Amino acid sequence: MIKMDIDVDVLIAGSGVSGLYCALNLRADLKVLVLSKSKITETNTYLAQGGISTAKNEEDIPHFIEDTLKAGQYKNSLEAVTILAKESMRDINKLIEFGMPFDKISEKFSYTKEGAHSINRIVHSKDHTGQVVAETLINETKKRKNITIYENTFLVDILKLDNKCIGGILLKDNEQINVYSKVVILATGGIGGLFNNSTNQRKLTGDGLAIAIKNNIKLKDINYIQFHPTAFYEENNKDRRLLISEAVRGEGGKLLNSKGERFVNELLPRNIVTKAIMKEINESKIPFVRLDITFLGEEFIKFRFPSIYNECLNKGIDITKEPIPVSPAQHYFEGGIQVDVNSMTSMNNLYAVGETSCTGVHGANRLASNSLLEGLVFSRRAAENINKNIDNISNINIKVPKLQYELDEIQCNNRKIVVNELMRRSNELNAELFNS
Ligand SMILES: Cc1cc2nc3c(=O)[nH]c(=O)nc-3n(C[C@H](O)[C@H](O)[C@H](O)COP(=O)(O)OP(=O)(O)OC[C@H]3O[C@@H](n4cnc5c(N)ncnc54)[C@H](O)[C@@H]3O)c2cc1C
Repeated sequence: MIKMDIDVDVLIAGSGVSGLYCALNLRADLKVLVLSKSKITETNTYLAQGGISTAKNEEDIPHFIEDTLKAGQYKNSLEAVTILAKESMRDINKLIEFGMPFDKISEKFSYTKEGAHSINRIVHSKDHTGQVVAETLINETKKRKNITIYENTFLVDILKLDNKCIGGILLKDNEQINVYSKVVILATGGIGGLFNNSTNQRKLTGDGLAIAIKNNIKLKDINYIQFHPTAFYEENNKDRRLLISEAVRGEGGKLLNSKGERFVNELLPRNIVTKAIMKEINESKIPFVRLDITFLGEEFIKFRFPSIYNECLNKGIDITKEPIPVSPAQHYFEGGIQVDVNSMTSMNNLYAVGETSCTGVHGANRLASNSLLEGLVFSRRAAENINKNIDNISNINIKVPKLQYELDEIQCNNRKIVVNELMRRSNELNAELFNS
């Protein structure tokens, strides 16, 4: 049944860092509708642990650019990386204006380090930075009268006329809602839910990508998928894998093989550490290696990594007393819907931001803690571009047919579309990686 038709100025699919920060940067006179396919907090943003990279000052900008390019194997877009580094401090300050409490020591940021960063330049809130970012943005969004949030509401497809996006079709409580909007923003996050073995929310299965593929919108670099070296190892775990943040290695954590020996520099880029761990696993036939931080002392560990400490304890490991069993898991999607530096896709009036988009910032391998920053910088740029141009766009209403399929069938079809496209474009992926 078609419940209703709605007219808005901007429709945003996604309530993670990129969707909400974009909404908050739009003009207050624009009517904005934000969707979340499940609860507003069921996002990868909420799970982020380590922190957000930022240039520390003007002198650090070229070094931050170089670290990002080097980690990305120089497959990055230099223009996008330069924007990311140059504009990073501005968005960190804006987050602080919204109330974000980054950890500080004597009134200065307590910068931490992660793999492949040449210096400590990651701001954080203990080891649950993402949760605090999400709560900060949600609180701010609730203050804005022009922003409405629909939870448990699924974007089925965009509406289009010629090569122009004019809205979206939603399913909410099994009822179809047709939204006519001047601009649509896909902020639908990553693809981890497609994999057997991933640190991501299970519900994130690449719906934005499926919509892009169905509508012939250009994609970029979708063969670049990041596996995180250190997810908590549990036998027969079908659920999301618990991430052991790179910040644990940044603070000195040591990786040990089955003989109790170190076998890799823990702070090399993620793809290299992942390969070294897989080599140990294959040779020893033991499905994990160990990550030891016991020597950091109980007081420091509990203060610096309270969430990881508690979550590991719930799984039977006291990380102050014993090493953590870890193995690699799918973690991040570097590729996605191709966008320019204002986050515009190949379809008019359609933008993509955050993990579902590909700005080219990450190249072949994302530098640690660059994704929350990308979500901030490029969603704010999308909002600025929309603020400037939206007065020249009108709402267009067309007749929309009734949906022929139930939500489960639509989601299942989306998964198939994305997995087929990933398999087609990447030689390294095989069907066994995917959750059927
Ligand atoms: C365990 C973990 C730790 C991480 N740690 C860090 C870190 O320390 N630093 C860092 O920079 N990055 C980190 N990352 C990566 C980072 O968290 C994500 O890349 C980033 O938060 C993605 O933000 P987003 O806004 O693109 O998407 P998300 O935050 O994942 O949000 C996606 C949104 O899209 C909605 N959605 C999806 N499909 C539909 C649909 N069809 N209809 C309606 N809504 C839909 C979802 O409901 C959700 O609201 C981590 C990731 C994980 C999994």
